[in-house]
Amino acid sequence: MRNPDDFRIDTLAVHAGERDPGPEGSVVFPIFQGTVYTLEPGTDYHDIKYHRLNSTPSQTYLHDKLALLEGTEAALATASGMAAVTTILHSLLRTGDHLLVGDVLYGGTFDFVTQFADDLGWTYTFVDPHAPETWDAARTDRTKAILVETITNPLMRVGRLRAVVAFAREHGLTSVIDNTFASPVNLRPAGIGFDLVFNSATKYLNGHSDVVAGTVAGSTAMIEKVRHKLNLYGGSLDPHAGYLLARGLKTLALRVRAQNANALAVATFLSDHPKVAEVNYAGLPGHPDHDYATDLLSGFGGMISFRLADGTVAAAEALLAALRLPASAPSLGGVESLITRPAITSHAGMPADERARLGITEDLIRLSCGIEDTDDLVTDFATALDKI
Ligand code: PLP
Repeated sequence: MRNPDDFRIDTLAVHAGERDPGPEGSVVFPIFQGTVYTLEPGTDYHDIKYHRLNSTPSQTYLHDKLALLEGTEAALATASGMAAVTTILHSLLRTGDHLLVGDVLYGGTFDFVTQFADDLGWTYTFVDPHAPETWDAARTDRTKAILVETITNPLMRVGRLRAVVAFAREHGLTSVIDNTFASPVNLRPAGIGFDLVFNSATKYLNGHSDVVAGTVAGSTAMIEKVRHKLNLYGGSLDPHAGYLLARGLKTLALRVRAQNANALAVATFLSDHPKVAEVNYAGLPGHPDHDYATDLLSGFGGMISFRLADGTVAAAEALLAALRLPASAPSLGGVESLITRPAITSHAGMPADERARLGITEDLIRLSCGIEDTDDLVTDFATALDKI
């Protein structure tokens, strides 16, 4: 694609990374399933094309597409979102180093940090991403990075992300953000100064619940550092999964806008319903981060969490069973709506007292809105709530 800076994200999603002309004239970049490529005389080791080294034509095509979507110099695809975050942390931290980490995190990231940091000789401190005045006290002279999420899972809080960038710059830390819940359609974190942006591409980026993948985006120097670790830890993305991800990315902007609209409609409906006690969605005017999120984000995302007035797990389960459209399943970001209780899925690994402290109650329900017709989705909730 020539002069990508001329285009907006909908256009980039379709055309970014495409070669002109494509291989053999193909309009759609094909899968290069081959893992190994002939060596031109004088090729440097780092330029060898080999799948684990993340350097085959399919991989560089996908990397170019991701970098243009994120607005960064470079990007990488990884074998999963967890491969992205763990490889980033291994690239930034050495034995004895310290990490600042947002206190409401995806359960897998929480488990990795809390269960493995000791073994790796890292220390960490959880910080409240809404309270910049507390961060300096948590910093040590070995603090190397700060890791936060754009929209937190599962409480949909939006921390003071611009302050995170400013704090990291002031103290020479690397700022890292998990942008999975927002996707680059709702926020391009590199645009507000984050050094490394990662996604579980399993969710919105692929968008069809049929690929597990991750992405990392940042400056060329940062991505080279992460790629070096990724190459040696062996977390490259399979070519076919990479092809599906690139295909999914083409409709990213369309899908995410539809999901934003559905989530706002369902959240508004639920917040007015007498059987619903609490709705967590930054698009609602009553949400504590509404003003900040309105200023920061282009859309509030497709994820909602809520609690019923009944307050019991039985009532939550009855609602899940009564709904016709959202499938009762973990994960998120697909074209189909999915619904789950984080306490038994995404946050099952978090100790119960920690969940309770953060407000992730047993009866909390999390909805990932798909691209179904908005009225059909709202009607499904209305009917199901009437039944229980
Ligand atoms: N980050 C967030 C916010 C997630 O929700 C998930 C998975 O649910 C991950 C990271 C991990 O991604 P993956 O399952 O692709 O490894």
